[in-house]
Parts: sequence; structure tokens; C-alpha cells
Amino acid sequence: MPDIACVNGRFGPLAEAVVSIEDRGFQFGDGVYEVIRTYRGKPFALDEHLSRFERSAQALHLSLGHTKDQWLVLVREGLRLSRFPETKIYLQVTRGQAPRDHPFPASIPPTTVLTFRELHPLDSAIRKAGVQAITLDDIRWGRCDIKSVNLLANVLARQRAKEAGVFEAILVRDGQVTEGSVSNVMVVRNGVLETAPEGHRILSGVTRAIVLELARKEGLPVVETFVGREDLLTASEVFLTGTTVEVLPVVHIDGQAIGAGVPGPLSQLLSRRWEALVG
Ligand code: PMP
Repeated sequence: MPDIACVNGRFGPLAEAVVSIEDRGFQFGDGVYEVIRTYRGKPFALDEHLSRFERSAQALHLSLGHTKDQWLVLVREGLRLSRFPETKIYLQVTRGQAPRDHPFPASIPPTTVLTFRELHPLDSAIRKAGVQAITLDDIRWGRCDIKSVNLLANVLARQRAKEAGVFEAILVRDGQVTEGSVSNVMVVRNGVLETAPEGHRILSGVTRAIVLELARKEGLPVVETFVGREDLLTASEVFLTGTTVEVLPVVHIDGQAIGAGVPGPLSQLLSRRWEALVG
């Protein structure tokens, strides 16, 4: 089955999909996006993703181009056409095509894009063993809650992680752990689950919210607070959450073992609860 794209409401093979070089997404990174995955062929937490898509667009005074219901129809149609066992659905809207000039152009339609590609889940051996991470300075802008296509600082961080031979870069701003380059970060210290609070410094992860809910249901104390880099390194457990990483234990950071250097009991418990929820 070929990868499929939909540009401004028109479906076709992804390889043939094009937008103008004067698109403001290309020129300025002036746009927002979402990544959604399917479980058993059904889009997971679609409403939560579309709500965040709307919030991101509103924060940038950007029109989403289609109503929420129209986006839903396009997602369903793309899934019907692509027919992968599991699909990674990408949604993007930019401020549209106009001669390059910083201020918003007057009344042009936004550019809307959806892509549908086969989702290859993370190797279960990697998930079982846990992954390694490095910490890096969080050099991103002041509105990390907006899921903007401006991902240069995230790209640089993930590249540094790749060059270091590890899975994720955990970002630290003013001594405080914010999140990963592609994930939210959760820490277990003294039996308490801690994660950075919602606000301008992190993306409000859809997975983050669901995992915190699962933790509360298990009776685990949850505190939404920033932890320091040293707290991270001396935590008994650390794990990542995100649409593609799901619940992923981190067993080494900056070369130091976290806890016993293997996935801890709470990470494993929440990972099992996650699997039960989505499976
Ligand atoms: N933070 C960042 C920077 C991300 O890119 C992602 C992945 N979209 C997340 C957190 C996790 O968000 P979600 O659970 O909604 O995928």
C-alpha cells in the first residue's frame, strides 16, 4: 500500500504531494502539527489531538482550514485508503502561500496537509530493556506548549542524542528538567511520580495526561513539578511518554545508571496499564 497524503482536501500518493516554495510553513515554519497513531487500526485519542491542534492554531491566530468534523472525516478517509496494519497520521496546517514578508498576509487560505504512513512500533526488546538518554540545555523558544512546526532546537537535540548513541535528549532549562526532544519525562523519587507542570515550558502531551490518570488510578502520588538535573540522575526510575514512545523506561542518563539500571517496577506497571488500555 503506498503512503498517502492529502493536501488542501485532495488525496493522492504521498510521493506526488507538493506545496509551494512560498508556503509560510517552508519560509517561516509558520504552522502547527499533530502526530496521531492507530491501535488496531483506530486512531487513538483523536479528539484530544484535534483539541490540541485547535489550541496550537489559536495561539498563533492561525485558521485550521477545516472544521474539527472535517478533519475527522479526512482522517477516516485517509485510513480507509491507506489500509496499513497500524498507521502514523500526521496533520499540519500552515498560514498558507504568500510572497515572503513577515507580517501575516491578508486573507489567504491556510495550507492543510495530512499524511498516512505505516507505523512500525518500537522493537519490544528495546522497550523491555529500557533506553539511554543524555541531558542537554533546553534552547527552545518560550512557547513550547504550542505544537509548532518550528522544531529546529528539537532536531538539534535529537541529532546530539543520535550522535551520542542514545535514544532521547532530556532538556534542562535553568537547572530544571522540562521534557524530551520528542517526549515528556516522568521521574519516580521516593515513591512519588513527578513530571513538569503544564505551561509554556512543555508540550502538554496527550500520552502524559493519560499516563498521569493511570498512575492516579493505581493510587500513586503524582506531583506536577519541575525536578532538577541531579534529581533526575538520582531518581529511582525515569520514563518517557509520547504517542510513538508510549511508556518507555530510561535506564541510563549521561552514562549514569538510573536506579538499578533496569526498568523499575512503577515504569513497568504503567507500561502494562498502557498496553491494557490501548490493546
Ligand atoms: N514533548 C514533545 C516535545 C513532543 O514532540 C512530544 C511528541 N509529540 C511529546 C512531548 C509527547 O506528546 P504526545 O504524548 O501528545 O505525543
